[in-house]
Amino acid sequence: MFENLSERLSGVFDKLTSQGALSEDDVKTALREVRVALLEADVSLPVARDFVKAVESRATGQAVTKSVTPGQQVIKIVHDELINVLKGDSEDTELLKVDNPPAPILMVGLQGGGKTTTTAKLAKRLKEKQGKRVLMASLDVYRPAAMHQLEVLGQQIGVDTLPIVAGQKPADIAKRAKQQAIMGGYDVYMLDTAGRLSIDDELMAEVEAVRDVTNPRETLLVVDGLTGQDAVNTAENFNNRIGISGVVLTRMDGDGRGGAALSMRAVTGKPIKFVGLGEKMDALEEFTPDRIAGRILG
Ligand code: GDP
Repeated sequence: MFENLSERLSGVFDKLTSQGALSEDDVKTALREVRVALLEADVSLPVARDFVKAVESRATGQAVTKSVTPGQQVIKIVHDELINVLKGDSEDTELLKVDNPPAPILMVGLQGGGKTTTTAKLAKRLKEKQGKRVLMASLDVYRPAAMHQLEVLGQQIGVDTLPIVAGQKPADIAKRAKQQAIMGGYDVYMLDTAGRLSIDDELMAEVEAVRDVTNPRETLLVVDGLTGQDAVNTAENFNNRIGISGVVLTRMDGDGRGGAALSMRAVTGKPIKFVGLGEKMDALEEFTPDRIAGRILG
Protein backbone atom coordinates (compact mmCIF):
# COMPACT_ATOMS: atom_id res chain seq x y z
CA MET A 1 0.00 0.00 0.00
CA PHE A 2 1.16 3.54 -0.76
CA GLU A 3 4.47 2.41 -2.25
CA ASN A 4 4.50 5.12 -4.88
CA LEU A 5 3.73 7.95 -2.55
CA SER A 6 6.09 6.64 0.09
CA GLU A 7 9.00 6.28 -2.30
CA ARG A 8 8.42 9.64 -3.78
CA LEU A 9 8.22 11.39 -0.45
CA SER A 10 11.26 9.55 0.85
CA GLY A 11 13.18 10.89 -2.14
CA VAL A 12 12.07 14.40 -1.36
CA PHE A 13 13.01 14.13 2.28
CA ASP A 14 16.33 12.50 1.60
CA LYS A 15 17.20 15.64 -0.26
CA LEU A 16 16.08 17.80 2.63
CA THR A 17 17.97 15.90 5.29
CA SER A 18 21.16 15.97 3.29
CA GLN A 19 21.09 19.69 2.81
CA GLY A 20 21.43 20.73 6.43
CA ALA A 21 20.06 24.22 6.68
CA LEU A 22 16.95 24.93 4.69
CA SER A 23 16.03 28.09 2.94
CA GLU A 24 12.41 29.05 2.33
CA ASP A 25 13.00 28.19 -1.30
CA ASP A 26 14.10 24.69 -0.32
CA VAL A 27 10.89 24.25 1.62
CA LYS A 28 8.88 25.51 -1.34
CA THR A 29 10.64 23.15 -3.72
CA ALA A 30 10.16 20.22 -1.38
CA LEU A 31 6.51 21.00 -0.91
CA ARG A 32 6.02 21.27 -4.65
CA GLU A 33 7.36 17.75 -4.90
CA VAL A 34 5.11 16.62 -2.08
CA ARG A 35 2.19 18.03 -4.03
CA VAL A 36 3.19 16.20 -7.20
CA ALA A 37 3.67 13.02 -5.20
CA LEU A 38 0.20 13.37 -3.74
CA LEU A 39 -1.33 13.95 -7.16
CA GLU A 40 0.49 10.96 -8.56
CA ALA A 41 -0.89 8.92 -5.70
CA ASP A 42 -4.33 9.97 -6.93
CA VAL A 43 -5.08 12.48 -4.21
CA SER A 44 -7.50 15.00 -5.67
CA LEU A 45 -6.11 18.40 -6.60
CA PRO A 46 -7.98 20.53 -4.05
CA VAL A 47 -7.08 18.09 -1.28
CA ALA A 48 -3.42 18.06 -2.29
CA ARG A 49 -3.39 21.84 -2.47
CA ASP A 50 -4.94 22.25 0.97
CA PHE A 51 -2.59 19.68 2.37
CA VAL A 52 0.50 21.42 1.08
CA LYS A 53 -0.81 24.77 2.23
CA ALA A 54 -1.36 23.46 5.74
CA VAL A 55 2.12 21.96 5.85
CA GLU A 56 3.65 25.13 4.51
CA SER A 57 2.02 27.39 7.06
CA ARG A 58 3.04 25.10 9.90
CA ALA A 59 6.57 24.78 8.56
CA THR A 60 6.93 28.52 8.14
CA GLY A 61 5.54 29.18 11.61
CA GLN A 62 8.12 26.83 13.08
CA ALA A 63 11.08 28.58 11.49
CA VAL A 64 12.32 25.48 9.74
CA THR A 65 15.26 27.33 8.26
CA LYS A 66 16.86 27.74 11.69
CA SER A 67 16.28 24.21 12.83
CA VAL A 68 19.14 21.80 13.36
CA THR A 69 17.48 19.00 11.46
CA PRO A 70 15.10 20.81 9.16
CA GLY A 71 14.38 17.75 7.02
CA GLN A 72 13.18 15.81 10.03
CA GLN A 73 11.10 18.71 11.16
CA VAL A 74 9.33 18.93 7.83
CA ILE A 75 8.80 15.18 7.84
CA LYS A 76 7.17 15.44 11.25
CA ILE A 77 4.91 18.23 10.08
CA VAL A 78 3.91 16.26 6.97
CA HIS A 79 3.32 13.20 9.14
CA ASP A 80 1.15 15.11 11.62
CA GLU A 81 -0.81 16.71 8.83
CA LEU A 82 -1.40 13.34 7.16
CA ILE A 83 -2.84 12.07 10.43
CA ASN A 84 -4.90 15.24 10.78
CA VAL A 85 -6.54 14.73 7.39
CA LEU A 86 -6.97 10.99 7.78
CA LYS A 87 -8.49 11.35 11.22
CA GLY A 88 -10.64 14.32 10.41
CA ASP A 89 -12.13 16.37 13.19
CA SER A 90 -14.92 14.00 14.06
CA GLU A 91 -15.26 13.41 17.78
CA ASP A 92 -17.01 10.19 17.01
CA THR A 93 -14.33 7.63 17.70
CA GLU A 94 -16.52 4.57 18.17
CA LEU A 95 -15.67 2.12 15.42
CA LEU A 96 -19.10 0.57 14.95
CA LYS A 97 -22.29 1.46 16.73
CA VAL A 98 -23.98 -1.80 17.50
CA ASP A 99 -25.83 -0.99 20.70
CA ASN A 100 -29.63 -1.30 21.09
CA PRO A 101 -30.06 -4.75 19.59
CA PRO A 102 -30.86 -5.58 16.94
CA ALA A 103 -28.61 -2.92 15.38
CA PRO A 104 -28.97 -2.62 11.60
CA ILE A 105 -25.84 -2.16 9.50
CA LEU A 106 -26.44 -1.13 5.91
CA MET A 107 -23.75 -2.04 3.41
CA VAL A 108 -23.72 -0.01 0.20
CA GLY A 109 -21.48 0.41 -2.83
CA LEU A 110 -20.96 -0.41 -6.46
CA GLN A 111 -20.87 -3.93 -7.83
CA GLY A 112 -17.52 -5.64 -7.52
CA GLY A 113 -16.24 -3.30 -4.82
CA GLY A 114 -16.16 -6.08 -2.27
CA LYS A 115 -19.47 -5.47 -0.49
CA THR A 116 -20.54 -9.07 0.03
CA THR A 117 -17.07 -10.20 1.08
CA THR A 118 -16.78 -7.28 3.50
CA THR A 119 -20.24 -7.94 4.95
CA ALA A 120 -19.12 -11.45 5.86
CA LYS A 121 -15.71 -10.29 7.13
CA LEU A 122 -17.37 -7.75 9.40
CA ALA A 123 -19.94 -10.26 10.62
CA LYS A 124 -17.11 -12.63 11.53
CA ARG A 125 -15.30 -9.87 13.34
CA LEU A 126 -18.40 -8.82 15.30
CA LYS A 127 -18.99 -12.42 16.26
CA GLU A 128 -15.43 -13.24 17.27
CA LYS A 129 -14.20 -9.98 18.73
CA GLN A 130 -17.39 -8.67 20.28
CA GLY A 131 -19.35 -11.84 20.83
CA LYS A 132 -22.29 -10.54 18.82
CA ARG A 133 -25.02 -12.69 17.32
CA VAL A 134 -25.24 -11.53 13.74
CA LEU A 135 -27.78 -12.11 10.99
CA MET A 136 -26.83 -11.32 7.39
CA ALA A 137 -29.30 -10.69 4.57
CA SER A 138 -28.65 -10.21 0.88
CA LEU A 139 -30.87 -7.66 -0.80
CA ASP A 140 -29.44 -8.25 -4.25
CA VAL A 141 -32.64 -9.26 -6.00
CA TYR A 142 -31.01 -8.91 -9.41
CA ARG A 143 -28.29 -11.46 -8.87
CA PRO A 144 -29.37 -14.72 -7.24
CA ALA A 145 -25.70 -15.72 -7.34
CA ALA A 146 -24.88 -12.86 -4.98
CA MET A 147 -27.53 -14.04 -2.52
CA HIS A 148 -26.12 -17.50 -2.71
CA GLN A 149 -22.56 -16.16 -2.24
CA LEU A 150 -23.56 -14.56 1.08
CA GLU A 151 -25.21 -17.77 2.19
CA VAL A 152 -22.06 -19.77 1.43
CA LEU A 153 -19.86 -17.26 3.24
CA GLY A 154 -22.27 -17.38 6.19
CA GLN A 155 -21.88 -21.13 6.43
CA GLN A 156 -18.13 -20.78 6.17
CA ILE A 157 -17.86 -18.33 9.08
CA GLY A 158 -20.73 -19.73 11.15
CA VAL A 159 -23.02 -16.72 10.83
CA ASP A 160 -26.73 -17.04 10.04
CA THR A 161 -28.21 -15.68 6.84
CA LEU A 162 -31.82 -14.73 6.22
CA PRO A 163 -33.55 -17.48 4.20
CA ILE A 164 -33.86 -16.48 0.55
CA VAL A 165 -37.40 -15.85 -0.67
CA ALA A 166 -37.70 -15.20 -4.39
CA GLY A 167 -39.72 -12.28 -5.73
CA GLN A 168 -39.41 -9.89 -2.77
CA LYS A 169 -38.35 -6.28 -3.10
CA PRO A 170 -35.20 -5.14 -1.26
CA ALA A 171 -37.20 -3.06 1.23
CA ASP A 172 -39.41 -6.08 1.98
CA ILE A 173 -36.39 -8.31 2.52
CA ALA A 174 -35.01 -5.64 4.86
CA LYS A 175 -38.27 -5.67 6.85
CA ARG A 176 -38.14 -9.43 7.04
CA ALA A 177 -34.53 -9.27 8.22
CA LYS A 178 -35.53 -6.83 10.95
CA GLN A 179 -38.38 -9.05 12.13
CA GLN A 180 -36.20 -12.11 12.10
CA ALA A 181 -33.48 -10.25 14.01
CA ILE A 182 -35.97 -9.18 16.68
CA MET A 183 -37.61 -12.58 16.98
CA GLY A 184 -34.35 -14.49 16.85
CA GLY A 185 -32.65 -12.33 19.48
CA TYR A 186 -29.82 -11.17 17.21
CA ASP A 187 -27.58 -8.28 18.28
CA VAL A 188 -26.87 -7.06 14.77
CA TYR A 189 -28.39 -7.54 11.35
CA MET A 190 -26.43 -6.67 8.25
CA LEU A 191 -28.05 -5.72 4.96
CA ASP A 192 -25.96 -6.38 1.87
CA THR A 193 -27.59 -4.21 -0.78
CA ALA A 194 -27.36 -4.73 -4.52
CA GLY A 195 -24.55 -2.99 -6.35
CA ARG A 196 -24.62 -1.56 -9.85
CA LEU A 197 -21.85 -0.88 -12.28
CA SER A 198 -22.48 2.80 -11.93
CA ILE A 199 -24.55 5.02 -9.70
CA ASP A 200 -28.08 5.50 -10.99
CA ASP A 201 -31.31 6.89 -9.62
CA GLU A 202 -32.94 3.52 -9.34
CA LEU A 203 -30.11 2.17 -7.19
CA MET A 204 -30.19 5.17 -4.91
CA ALA A 205 -34.00 5.11 -4.56
CA GLU A 206 -33.81 1.46 -3.64
CA VAL A 207 -31.15 2.02 -1.00
CA GLU A 208 -33.13 4.97 0.37
CA ALA A 209 -36.19 2.74 0.74
CA VAL A 210 -34.13 0.16 2.63
CA ARG A 211 -32.62 2.87 4.82
CA ASP A 212 -36.06 4.27 5.63
CA VAL A 213 -37.53 0.96 6.79
CA THR A 214 -34.55 0.03 8.95
CA ASN A 215 -33.00 3.29 10.19
CA PRO A 216 -29.44 1.87 10.19
CA ARG A 217 -27.02 2.47 13.06
CA GLU A 218 -24.20 2.30 10.54
CA THR A 219 -24.24 2.83 6.80
CA LEU A 220 -20.94 1.65 5.44
CA LEU A 221 -19.79 2.36 1.93
CA VAL A 222 -17.55 -0.35 0.55
CA VAL A 223 -15.27 0.89 -2.22
CA ASP A 224 -12.38 -0.50 -4.15
CA GLY A 225 -9.32 1.41 -2.93
CA LEU A 226 -7.59 0.78 -6.24
CA THR A 227 -10.02 2.95 -8.15
CA GLY A 228 -8.55 6.16 -6.74
CA GLN A 229 -10.49 9.23 -7.67
CA ASP A 230 -13.49 7.17 -8.80
CA ALA A 231 -13.74 5.78 -5.29
CA VAL A 232 -13.81 9.31 -3.92
CA ASN A 233 -16.55 10.35 -6.37
CA THR A 234 -18.57 7.27 -5.47
CA ALA A 235 -18.25 8.12 -1.79
CA GLU A 236 -19.34 11.69 -2.37
CA ASN A 237 -22.39 10.52 -4.31
CA PHE A 238 -23.50 7.96 -1.78
CA ASN A 239 -22.89 10.34 1.08
CA ASN A 240 -24.95 13.11 -0.50
CA ARG A 241 -27.85 10.87 -1.36
CA ILE A 242 -27.95 8.24 1.38
CA GLY A 243 -25.76 9.63 4.14
CA ILE A 244 -22.98 7.25 5.09
CA SER A 245 -21.42 6.79 8.51
CA GLY A 246 -18.12 5.40 7.28
CA VAL A 247 -16.09 3.85 4.52
CA VAL A 248 -14.41 0.49 4.02
CA LEU A 249 -11.56 0.64 1.51
CA THR A 250 -10.99 -2.75 -0.08
CA ARG A 251 -8.08 -4.19 -2.07
CA MET A 252 -5.56 -2.27 -0.02
CA ASP A 253 -3.40 -5.39 -0.29
CA GLY A 254 -2.89 -4.45 -3.93
CA ASP A 255 -0.11 -2.20 -5.13
CA GLY A 256 -2.44 0.63 -6.04
CA ARG A 257 -1.95 4.25 -5.29
CA GLY A 258 -3.08 5.08 -1.79
CA GLY A 259 -4.25 8.62 -2.33
CA ALA A 260 -7.90 7.60 -2.22
CA ALA A 261 -7.66 7.27 1.56
CA LEU A 262 -6.51 10.83 1.94
CA SER A 263 -9.01 12.36 -0.49
CA MET A 264 -11.87 10.26 0.78
CA ARG A 265 -11.58 11.59 4.29
CA ALA A 266 -11.10 15.17 3.20
CA VAL A 267 -13.91 15.19 0.65
CA THR A 268 -16.66 13.28 2.47
CA GLY A 269 -15.75 14.17 6.04
CA LYS A 270 -16.58 10.56 6.88
CA PRO A 271 -14.08 8.22 8.53
CA ILE A 272 -12.49 5.25 6.85
CA LYS A 273 -13.34 2.57 9.39
CA PHE A 274 -11.75 -0.54 7.91
CA VAL A 275 -9.45 -1.63 5.13
CA GLY A 276 -9.74 -4.88 3.22
CA LEU A 277 -6.42 -6.63 2.77
CA GLY A 278 -7.30 -9.75 0.82
CA GLU A 279 -9.98 -12.23 -0.13
CA LYS A 280 -9.84 -14.30 3.05
CA MET A 281 -12.40 -13.79 5.78
CA ASP A 282 -9.76 -12.53 8.22
CA ALA A 283 -8.31 -10.00 5.81
CA LEU A 284 -10.00 -6.97 7.33
CA GLU A 285 -8.28 -4.47 9.58
CA GLU A 286 -9.25 -1.44 11.48
CA PHE A 287 -8.09 1.69 9.69
CA THR A 288 -5.34 3.37 11.67
CA PRO A 289 -4.20 6.82 10.54
CA ASP A 290 -0.86 6.54 12.35
CA ARG A 291 0.12 3.39 10.60
CA ILE A 292 -0.99 4.66 7.21
CA ALA A 293 0.82 7.96 7.70
CA GLY A 294 3.91 6.04 8.73
CA ARG A 295 3.68 3.91 5.62
CA ILE A 296 3.20 6.94 3.40
CA LEU A 297 6.34 8.47 4.75
CA GLY A 298 8.22 5.18 4.65
P1 GDP B 1 -19.52 -7.01 -4.42
O1 GDP B 1 -20.03 -7.14 -5.81
O2 GDP B 1 -19.27 -5.58 -4.06
O3 GDP B 1 -20.37 -7.71 -3.41
O4 GDP B 1 -18.07 -7.67 -4.41
P2 GDP B 1 -17.57 -9.07 -3.81
O5 GDP B 1 -17.65 -9.07 -2.34
O6 GDP B 1 -18.27 -10.17 -4.52
O7 GDP B 1 -16.02 -9.02 -4.19
C1 GDP B 1 -15.56 -9.04 -5.52
C2 GDP B 1 -14.21 -9.71 -5.56
O8 GDP B 1 -13.25 -8.94 -4.85
C3 GDP B 1 -14.20 -11.08 -4.90
O9 GDP B 1 -13.43 -11.94 -5.69
C4 GDP B 1 -13.53 -10.83 -3.56
O10 GDP B 1 -12.88 -11.97 -3.07
C5 GDP B 1 -12.57 -9.73 -3.90
N1 GDP B 1 -12.21 -8.89 -2.75
C6 GDP B 1 -13.03 -8.28 -1.85
N2 GDP B 1 -12.33 -7.57 -0.94
C7 GDP B 1 -11.02 -7.73 -1.25
C8 GDP B 1 -9.78 -7.23 -0.69
O11 GDP B 1 -9.73 -6.47 0.30
N3 GDP B 1 -8.63 -7.60 -1.32
C9 GDP B 1 -8.64 -8.42 -2.42
N4 GDP B 1 -7.45 -8.74 -2.95
N5 GDP B 1 -9.76 -8.89 -2.98
C10 GDP B 1 -10.94 -8.56 -2.41
